[in-house]
Amino acid sequence: MYIRKQRLLTPGPTPLLPAALHAMMGSDIHHRTEDFRKLYKQVLSDLQEVIGTSNDVIVLVSSGSGGLEAATQNFFTPGDEVLVCSAGKFGERWVEIMKAWGMKATVLTAPYGDVVKPEAVEAALTQNKNIKGVFVQASETSTGAAHDVKAMGLAVKKTNAIFVVDSITGLGTMPLDVEGWGLDIVIGGSQKAFMIPPGLAFVAVSPKAWKLAESAKAPHFYFDLKKEKKNAATGESAWTPNTSLLLALAEALKYIKQLGMPNLIANAQMLATATRAAVTELGLEVFSSSPGSSVTAVRAPAGMDSGVIVKEFRNRFNAIIANGQGSMKGQIFRIAHLGFFDFHDLFAVVAELELILAANGHPVSFGKGVAAVQNVYAEAALPKEALAVS
Ligand SMILES: *Cc1c(COP(=O)(O)O)cnc(C)c1O
Repeated sequence: MYIRKQRLLTPGPTPLLPAALHAMMGSDIHHRTEDFRKLYKQVLSDLQEVIGTSNDVIVLVSSGSGGLEAATQNFFTPGDEVLVCSAGKFGERWVEIMKAWGMKATVLTAPYGDVVKPEAVEAALTQNKNIKGVFVQASETSTGAAHDVKAMGLAVKKTNAIFVVDSITGLGTMPLDVEGWGLDIVIGGSQKAFMIPPGLAFVAVSPKAWKLAESAKAPHFYFDLKKEKKNAATGESAWTPNTSLLLALAEALKYIKQLGMPNLIANAQMLATATRAAVTELGLEVFSSSPGSSVTAVRAPAGMDSGVIVKEFRNRFNAIIANGQGSMKGQIFRIAHLGFFDFHDLFAVVAELELILAANGHPVSFGKGVAAVQNVYAEAALPKEALAVS
C-alpha cells in the first residue's frame, strides 16, 4: 500500500480554499440578524468588486444552471425572439432553457471545439430587429473554447437586445469588462473560480436588463430577481440563504481581493499556456481552435479512449480529471485551471499524464511535457534575477 491523496482537478467543482472551508463551520448564524446582514452586504459588495461592476449582483441558492434559468424567466416573455450562440454542451443548455420557457430562438451553432463568430451575431441582429436577447457562454467548459464576448457585446450594445453571458467559468479566467462591453447579465457559479463548493449562483444585472424586466411576463416565484434586489438593499435575501456557503464565499472573496482579480485571471492563463505547451510536446492535440483558460480540452491519442486516461488518473493517483461530455466522451479529457490551482498541481498532472500515456501504448520520453511547463514557469513566473546562474 502507498499513500494517494485525493485531488479534485475538474473544471467545477474545483479545489477548495482552506480558509473558506474552515469558515463554513461557523454556520449556526440566523439570517434575520445583524450578523448576517453585515456578512451579506460585504459579500454583495465584494462580488461587485471582483466581477468589476457597479451593476446589482444577485445571489441565488442554486447551482449555476439556476442562474441561467433566472436570467431567462425574469427578463423575457414566452414567445420572445432571442438569439443563442451554441458551441458545446453548455450552449445546448441555453437552447434547452429557451425551449422550456417557450422562447422563439434562432440558434447560431459552431462545431464542438470551435466558436460562434461575433460577425455572425452582428449579422443576425441586423437581419432581425425583434431579437430581445442574445445568449452565449464566455467560456464553453465542455470544449475549452472561449468566445469573443467583447466584440459580441459591442454589437449587442447598439441594439435594444440585452446580452446574457454565462460567465460561470469565464469569471476569474478571462478579462470581462462588464459595463464597457455591454454584458447586461453576467452569470457566475460558486464551484468554479470562486474556490468554494457548489450551491450558489451569481447574476449581475445591468440597468438595461432591469428595464426589460419591467415588461417581462414569464412566470416566476422562487427566482424573483426584483424581490432579491429589494431585499438585498437591507442586507437580506428573500428566502433562507445558504449561510454556510456565504461564510465560505466571504473568505474566498477576501482572498481573491488580496490576490487581485487580474492576478487570478493571469494565474489561469499561465497554467493554460503551460498545459498547451506540455500536451503539444507530448504529441497530443488541443481540442479547441480558440482555447480559453478555464480548462484545456485535449484529444486522446489515436486509438486510446480518453476514459482510460481519466480512469488511470483516478486509479493510480486518486486524481479526478474530467472526461468529455456527450459525444465528446471518450474523445477528449480536460485539465482545469480555474480558481485554486497552481504550478505544483500542473507539474504533477503533466508528470502523471506522461506515465499514463506510456503505460497505455503512447510512446513518451519522460520529462518532455514537464520540461515544457518548467520553461513556461522559468520564463514568466520567476523573477529574472532568480534565474541568473554564474
Ligand atoms: C459549470 C457550468 C454551468 C453550470 O452548471 P451547474 O452544474 O448547474 O452548476 C453552466 N455553464 C458553464 C459554462 C459551466 O461551466
